[in-house]
Amino acid sequence: MPKRILIAGFKHETNTFSRLPTDLASYRDRILYRRAEVPARLAGTRSEVAAFLDAATRHGWQVVTPVVADATPSGKVTEETYRVIAGEILAAAANEGPFDGVLLNLHGAMVAEHTDDGEGTLLAALREVLGPDVPIAATLDLHANVTERMAECADILVSYRTYPHIDQYEVAAEAAALLARTLAGEIRPHTQVTRGRMLDGVDHGRTSAPGPMLEVQAAAARLQAANPGILSVSINAGFPSADIRDCGPSVVIVGDGDDPSYAAAARALVGEIWERRHQHTVTSIGSREAIARLRERRCGAKPTVLADFADNPGGGGYGDATGLLAALIAADLPRTVFATIYDPTAAALCHAAGEGAQLQLLLGGAIDPAYGPPLAVTGQVQRLTDGRFALDGPMSKGVAVDMGPSAVLQVGNVAVVIASRRFQALDTQFFRHAGIEPGEQEVVAVKSAQHFRAAFAPLASEVLVVDDGGGLTSDNYRRFEYRNVRRPIYPLDLE
Ligand SMILES: [Zn+2]
Repeated sequence: MPKRILIAGFKHETNTFSRLPTDLASYRDRILYRRAEVPARLAGTRSEVAAFLDAATRHGWQVVTPVVADATPSGKVTEETYRVIAGEILAAAANEGPFDGVLLNLHGAMVAEHTDDGEGTLLAALREVLGPDVPIAATLDLHANVTERMAECADILVSYRTYPHIDQYEVAAEAAALLARTLAGEIRPHTQVTRGRMLDGVDHGRTSAPGPMLEVQAAAARLQAANPGILSVSINAGFPSADIRDCGPSVVIVGDGDDPSYAAAARALVGEIWERRHQHTVTSIGSREAIARLRERRCGAKPTVLADFADNPGGGGYGDATGLLAALIAADLPRTVFATIYDPTAAALCHAAGEGAQLQLLLGGAIDPAYGPPLAVTGQVQRLTDGRFALDGPMSKGVAVDMGPSAVLQVGNVAVVIASRRFQALDTQFFRHAGIEPGEQEVVAVKSAQHFRAAFAPLASEVLVVDDGGGLTSDNYRRFEYRNVRRPIYPLDLE
């Protein structure tokens, strides 16, 4: 008899300071695949689910794929939306078994209206349906806020080890391989989590330059090499924009059986994170300084890439803050491109006017004008698109994006890509699908904090991270009112 495996995904990184609720439309805007659509849309990509499917083929598993859902980071997931998607996973677990094992693609920082621990609540419900003996393996984002309940209810938790997240496939393959060994009776995995008194740490998890994350990961690798019973170690940077009790960096160890030495090892690694709490590999600058640096650019050099750090939709930023865009339009430097500003109304106006039309409109600043008011611009519609393309890597290569009706508006020297849906511009296709070759520009600006480096750093002469101190994803945490996180905590209370 082939083993029967439940494969599903339910992801969200919830920024509890966002005023945008996360509903079913938010999932439809990004990924909401059901049943046969799951392999049809994700097999052959660099996604976690593709790795699960490949493992199933390799091991001859029979799979059931009720739903895979992912939404761009935003506010709390509505209770109704949570119950719909989690309900589909739980119904499949209850009615389409018996199952030998489960592979879940989660994030680990989901907050819903009715629970601060979205993944822990799902895993507990799944455990209740399946009973204690069916092994559950799940992948997490490196920005997971891992809870004790998640560790208790899952047998195997493995997080990405890269930021930009370019190892989603590999991490899922690791989780699936551990599940296969469990099913073969080779191992009895036991997962535990340990965290410290930190809201933020390991340089947000960046692995693009030598720094604290790579150092702590190296310590974890040494630990694993010295302990054959340790099957997997994940260093989680946590997601600090979630005001929940268990927010912050953590260490997850999957051991073969439980052994008190694993918890001691995890505490030692948390100590390594604490010791490096002041270390950062990136220093942001204000837009005024960024423009001054752009004016000094050497003519003919490869593009300078600017990251709009404080309004990164990948961390819950609204994607319509206008601060950096306004500065670039005012500077009017040659061959400048910007992706993307989220503004469905402006995109619709461009589509109504048609390619070549001149028009005046207000751009962005609609969701919270405190992060930059709507920007009055006059420009020409250069290009209209349906906003659809496949990411071409290195991150999530092959995964489809649908930004909805989109447009390139040329404002002076600045070409602005306007989108009808919120996305982090982490891939060159955000420009290329609209006929803009980023490598041929002088200035390339993207709403992204770190993921853009995977695709854009190879094209760049220089990367500037811009943060004027505003924006929902600025890392000045003292600007936000935390009520639920455990206290005292670094950097809010503790030095
Ligand atoms: Zn992440």
